[in-house]
Amino acid sequence: MVAPEALADLLSDPYRVACPNGHTALKPATTTPSAYCRTCRESYHASELVDRRVGSCKPYRNGKD
Ligand SMILES: [Zn+2]
Repeated sequence: MVAPEALADLLSDPYRVACPNGHTALKPATTTPSAYCRTCRESYHASELVDRRVGSCKPYRNGKD
């Protein structure tokens, strides 16, 4: 998950934050701590998003492809 207060900062790096399905380049929402994934066509709250730099000791799996 991403801390809601850190989300806007982390989203300034397009590859830092991923949606629950592993997509990046999310669009930050202006009024809520959430971001929109164009690939999923869904908005996700910060608590659902993945900070790809935390837990980088684990291999990151990007879906099934
Ligand atoms: Zn997505």
